[in-house]
Amino acid sequence: MSHWMFTEEHEMFRKSVRAFMEKEVVPNIEKWEREGETPRSLYKRMGELGYLGIKFPEEYGGSGLDLIMEAVFTEELAKCGAGGVAAAIGSHTSIAMTNIWKYGSHEQKQKYLVPGIKGELIAALAITESSGGSDVSAIKTTAKRAGDYYILTGSKTFITNGVNADYVIVAARTREDPVHRNVSLFIVETNSEGYSVGKKLKKLGWRSSDTSEIFFDNVKVPSENIIGNENEGFLYVMENFQYERLTMALGCIGAAEKALELAIKYSKERIQFKQPLSEFQVIRHKLVDMAVDIEKARNITYRAIYLYNKGENCVTEATMAKVYATEMVNRVADQALQIHGGNGYMMEYPIQRIWRDARIQTIGGGTTQIMYEILTKRLGILS
Ligand SMILES: Cc1cc2nc3c(=O)[nH]c(=O)nc-3n(C[C@H](O)[C@H](O)[C@H](O)COP(=O)(O)OP(=O)(O)OC[C@H]3O[C@@H](n4cnc5c(N)ncnc54)[C@H](O)[C@@H]3O)c2cc1C
Repeated sequence: MSHWMFTEEHEMFRKSVRAFMEKEVVPNIEKWEREGETPRSLYKRMGELGYLGIKFPEEYGGSGLDLIMEAVFTEELAKCGAGGVAAAIGSHTSIAMTNIWKYGSHEQKQKYLVPGIKGELIAALAITESSGGSDVSAIKTTAKRAGDYYILTGSKTFITNGVNADYVIVAARTREDPVHRNVSLFIVETNSEGYSVGKKLKKLGWRSSDTSEIFFDNVKVPSENIIGNENEGFLYVMENFQYERLTMALGCIGAAEKALELAIKYSKERIQFKQPLSEFQVIRHKLVDMAVDIEKARNITYRAIYLYNKGENCVTEATMAKVYATEMVNRVADQALQIHGGNGYMMEYPIQRIWRDARIQTIGGGTTQIMYEILTKRLGILS
């Protein structure tokens, strides 16, 4: 049964996205995992189908639809069981390009959003540095004004799409103080002089997304490439975190559903002690617990999406969704792997990939501990 939040149009869209994923993504997952990246051709294909511009205005080649429509896409993308592909596409649309859409100028939208929506250019967002991911005040990359340019110096790490991006939204320090009012966002073209990419990082999961360090050695960035106002970058990043966290929560629900589906299927097929595993009450009840856990995450997340789509402040709800759904997918994937027994530990069974992919969810986009700290403040627990 469909959730009340979705209309008939949302459900029709879900069907077509699911069919696309089954036909054009699922058969290629293992290849892309081995290659360590999502190919450009998938961005192009998704661009042609309008999947990269669901929420963006029609004026820039988007479909101008609501965020719930994009939520449908995000869930279905994750449900095909390739966290890496979901990370690559999600970083491009939800995390990087959203900053240009929300805070960028008309010219920036023409130059970077339009080809991004078509899948012709790949985008990334670069905030994290080796000095710290949780502590944004630890950003050391600087951008110094020099006439019509800013000169960027420093480095970033763990950047999703870092190898293949054509442009990167970079958070850099534009003055020393005050903390949280000293960072600006820049659109940096990756073919700029002085810009370089480290090696593709080898990861436990999300293998079909490329991740790397990036370096800025006196990179000249035209001043028109600053996003919004100088020194307000931290505010933009924090504001957009609500949506990034909701996107991650949705992805976790999709991946957990896939894990449950695989576990149910396996429990019916695998015979032990002359009966399918599903005949053992302990296994059946484990599967039910997993389904209930997913449902809890779904309801917390859908409520937050519903509020966010209405334009309401939902920092508390989005943070709760992120923390619950990301911990939930780890529990569910772990139990699904347990039900697969030794086969679950083998690389030919897709459950191992979902289990590996799940692990990053409580770390990326703000760790579980940071979510608890935000909620501590939001709930007025500290006096
Ligand atoms: C695969 C992958 C893809 C990524 N993609 C991107 C990307 O595209 N762009 C980008 O900018 N970043 C990206 N990141 C970085 C990611 O956002 C950071 O790894 C994350 O924010 C955590 O930062 P950290 O790794 O520096 O850990 P740290 O901040 O060093 O944290 C280490 C541990 O300390 C805990 N901790 C830290 N501070 C506190 C506190 N105040 N109270 C309690 N506990 C605390 C944390 O919860 C964690 O358990 C990616 C990371 C990975 C692994």
